[in-house]
Amino acid sequence: MSIAYQLSSVRNTLPEEVQLIAVSKTHSVGMIRDAYDAGQRLFGENRPQELREKYEVLPKDIEWHMIGHLQTNKVKYIAPFVKLIHSVDSSRLVDTIQREAAKCNRTVEILFEIRVADEETKTGWNFDELMQYIRTAPFGVMTNICVRGVMGIATNTDDEQIVRRDFEKLRHYFEMLKPYFTARFDTLSMGMSHDYPIAVECGATMVRVGSLIFGERDYSK
Ligand SMILES: *Cc1c(COP(=O)(O)O)cnc(C)c1O
Repeated sequence: MSIAYQLSSVRNTLPEEVQLIAVSKTHSVGMIRDAYDAGQRLFGENRPQELREKYEVLPKDIEWHMIGHLQTNKVKYIAPFVKLIHSVDSSRLVDTIQREAAKCNRTVEILFEIRVADEETKTGWNFDELMQYIRTAPFGVMTNICVRGVMGIATNTDDEQIVRRDFEKLRHYFEMLKPYFTARFDTLSMGMSHDYPIAVECGATMVRVGSLIFGERDYSK
């Protein structure tokens, strides 16, 4: 099936107000171009250098989203153009994004990634630590970042109950953090190829879908 076809099949299952991030990591510029030609403008990547290279050769009206773990020393690669960083998981990273965005004289939007899955390996903030940080962090003077909301990854399991529990937890955290920010705190990024319909039921405003659109990833290259 073509990328345009896959894209529209996913799009057709989403309520209109839910944003679809096409996760193009590992996939070629040509495949991204196919999705672009089919109307897609929001793309997600998880490696800063790969993101930068793709940004440079593709149309400039693409909105690029960073969805993977980001090391502070790599923020500089994407600060000049990235729209939204979903995977902000430490105060050091917040400080670095603020600094690099200021150098570029722009505002970078961020989401706090919160850990909700059972697996030890999943990245993100512990919610209580995040709450503590938010209560004391000087967001008022961080004028080059805009906190838009929360991101998370559910436990990787076929057990729908567990996945639903994780997404509901995220939704709850999102609601708890909202009063600390402006009205622009409106984004709940959750759901991937195998679980996005459940995420949407639980209130996702943004889903990150890769393999359903572009096919399986090949990490051997
Ligand atoms: C790769 C990735 C996705 C997309 O995964 P698919 O299963 O291909 O839809 C979504 N979110 C994050 C954080 C990812 O790293």
